[in-house]
Amino acid sequence: MRFYLLRLLAMLSLVGAPAASAAPTPRLVIAISVDQFSSEVYARYRENYSAGLKRLSSGIAFPVGYQSHATTETCPGHSTILTGDHPSHTGIIGNSWFDRNSGSTVYCVEVAGNNDPRARGPQKLRVTTLGDWIKQAHPRSRVVAISGKDRAAIMMGGHKPDLVAWWVDGVGFETSQYAGRADDEIQNILERENAGFAKAWSSAPPTLWPAQVPAYCQSLVKPHHFGDIDVNGKVPPTGAVEATAAPGFASRKEFQGAFRASPLSDTLALDFAANMAERWKLGSRRNTDLLAISLSATDYVGHLYGNGGAEMCAQIHALDQSLGAFLHRIDRLSVPYLVVLTADHGAADAPERLKEHGITAERVDGGAVIRALNQHLRHALSLDSDPIIADDAQLLYVSSPGDARLARRISSEAVNWLRQQSSVEAVLTRDAVAAAAPVAGKSPAELTLAERLNESFNPDRSADIFVEFKKYTTFGWPHRQGASVAGHGSPWDYDRQVPILFWWRGAPSKTSSAPVETVDIAPTIANMIGIATPPVDGHCLSRVRICSGKGAPGN
Ligand code: ZN
Repeated sequence: MRFYLLRLLAMLSLVGAPAASAAPTPRLVIAISVDQFSSEVYARYRENYSAGLKRLSSGIAFPVGYQSHATTETCPGHSTILTGDHPSHTGIIGNSWFDRNSGSTVYCVEVAGNNDPRARGPQKLRVTTLGDWIKQAHPRSRVVAISGKDRAAIMMGGHKPDLVAWWVDGVGFETSQYAGRADDEIQNILERENAGFAKAWSSAPPTLWPAQVPAYCQSLVKPHHFGDIDVNGKVPPTGAVEATAAPGFASRKEFQGAFRASPLSDTLALDFAANMAERWKLGSRRNTDLLAISLSATDYVGHLYGNGGAEMCAQIHALDQSLGAFLHRIDRLSVPYLVVLTADHGAADAPERLKEHGITAERVDGGAVIRALNQHLRHALSLDSDPIIADDAQLLYVSSPGDARLARRISSEAVNWLRQQSSVEAVLTRDAVAAAAPVAGKSPAELTLAERLNESFNPDRSADIFVEFKKYTTFGWPHRQGASVAGHGSPWDYDRQVPILFWWRGAPSKTSSAPVETVDIAPTIANMIGIATPPVDGHCLSRVRICSGKGAPGN
């Protein structure tokens, strides 16, 4: 508690000072998160980049950076990028978690006590963001955050964005009065933006995927059997063309699913971001503006088709092109700008295709594991109801209202049972995780499982038992088209490793193998634009900038 109080006091006073600068101070910071862009996928196609990803890779590139915590999901991952803090401090320990007070699951950007099902906001985010620091120093600076997902836009936009918007199926880009400004100016912008593509789609249905798969993706076009689903491996994927064919397609569920998992959804988000940069003349004020963008299509494509096929190859190719077009529009603003590109987490490919490459990979029904565990506990401890609550088989909450001794017995019996399961690698208790804070300066590549979990651990919100399944475990068995065939969320490196790219015009060209972290991004950028930061988990990267105070040496 004392630590938190000190932290809060320090945050309020905004300690720290900017370093002397070498390059012109950026007037516009563009922070891009590519949802589920793993280091592995980034590296696989790096030779083929010819547009935006090529340019961003030509600056200071850390191909293997880390989202170093264990619970590698979208909301926690996005919470680290512009706060400088691990989820243990941002409080965003998952996309959702079990709330012991209300006895229900809460979503990371829901607004407590609000009856409007579309109310969204950053109220559960317990720290401030780069945008908040900028606004505190320079109230007239603009902070804009745009994404295909509410949780991504809100985590990057922080507590006081001028505009924060995300895609809502059947509506277009939307905001919420609890997330940022929702006044007439903002509503007019959203209406104009949404009317723009609605009009275009009324005269000709949109092309979700390029008609031709790039030549370097051709060899990946192969049929696969994922769970019960047959996937032909072609691009455009089955259903993507048909989804736009029927009258009134835009309101249909098939279209909405196909649109989200298509390159066009990223193109629309980037177009909107560039429109905002032009509309608000971002970068032309005396102080720095922030434009945060999270591109969701890579994640949806990865879930639907895995990340090792032609679909992902074509998606990354399209992303490269869209980013190139976006950067050209930003160039035309003629303002000094800085881009950082990273991801909220990585992912593993579908287990069936991993096995073709000789990797041991299995599907596990997480729900069945929890049901069997509850059945065992009811029998072994003579209980009338299920004592374990879990949406996620990796994070288990013990329910034993008012009986601490029983809770300990349940926990101990559950840990013993789980350790005997062949799909399980390790089981850790809350106490073990709480005590496992990594020593300062320890490389994210070297963290133990307990330390990775500690960086995702928040005493109020976190689970009682942590279950780590074997490497390359995929949860769920896909039964029909449209089901997820691959995922992420584990503490293993394929889910933790993400590229971190810094680019500005004239940036030195350097690729570093240093295992830097996404929590280093916000303090590094703050230093570059001369904004003081509160104390955060990350460090200013000394290779990107000569930082005052302690940077991470050798980065
Ligand atoms: Zn994600």
